[in-house]
Amino acid sequence: MKVKFWGVRGSIPTPGPQTMEVGGNTSCVEVRTDDNQLLIFDAGTGIRLLGLSLMEEGFDKGGRVGHIFFSHTHWDHIQGFPFFAPAFVKGKAHFPTLKSPGGEEEPELSNTFNLYGAKRVFEKLENTLRGQMEYQYFPVSLDQMGATINFHEIQDNPIKIGENRIIPGRLNHPNGALGYRIENAKGDKVVVYATDTEHYYGGDLDPHVLALAKNADIFIYDSQYTPEEYLGDPANQKRSKIGWGHSTWREGVLLSKAAGVKQYILFHHDPSHSDKFLFEMEKQVQRHFSNSRIAYEGLEIIL
Ligand SMILES: [Zn+2]
Ligand SMILES: [Zn+2]
Repeated sequence: MKVKFWGVRGSIPTPGPQTMEVGGNTSCVEVRTDDNQLLIFDAGTGIRLLGLSLMEEGFDKGGRVGHIFFSHTHWDHIQGFPFFAPAFVKGKAHFPTLKSPGGEEEPELSNTFNLYGAKRVFEKLENTLRGQMEYQYFPVSLDQMGATINFHEIQDNPIKIGENRIIPGRLNHPNGALGYRIENAKGDKVVVYATDTEHYYGGDLDPHVLALAKNADIFIYDSQYTPEEYLGDPANQKRSKIGWGHSTWREGVLLSKAAGVKQYILFHHDPSHSDKFLFEMEKQVQRHFSNSRIAYEGLEIIL
């Protein structure tokens, strides 16, 4: 199984000299299973680069299939979708009269993308993706993308893709979000994607996140704030972030220890955190949980 990070930032893209090493694109993680299923978690701006890479590996020829799992529909998790090139590959079978502007041959078959979102916000997943591509926002509509796009609503039941199980779990975020646990056939390779979520301040560890993370090889967790930022400092006019829907590295460490996680990846970095800040934070976190690291664009982990 391979995990690759294409977008690691929360809230808004943050290009610029301060964030060049960690990267400024918003949430998008690729998981390639041992039976070569393409699973994508969120379609933040990082999905654009993933799309270009997929085109080079054959998605430009059509007839390929991918699965995109949405945690929720906040901007930083959907905004890259209109720029996902493989979703524009249409097949002759679907568009017999369409000629490409350059006159080149269209592929025989379109690509197919299965899109998954929470049942509770399912209406919103399709409507929101459609809405952000309405003409006043974007010149190409969802229906003109060309690929076959299927929407699937999920709630508590696992889904099987190839030999793998994808188990959803509810997260604590304004308007709701889903985390996902990906298990291979034998259950001996486990990756967990859990963003955006806030811990229960002053309470127990979140039982939904604990269940998702149990004995995970890789635990990707919303670590947007330091514990100090989360609490704020009213004396210095620093507002607390309690109730904003995001968590801290301290909570990530507690969850990792309680769940028997092998590697903890800090994800969904705050837009205000520079490379320097994040690399210093990483060192600090490693003193509490040695096998931890910050996610950065291009990070690839093979299981
Ligand atoms: Zn987010
Ligand atoms: Zn969010």
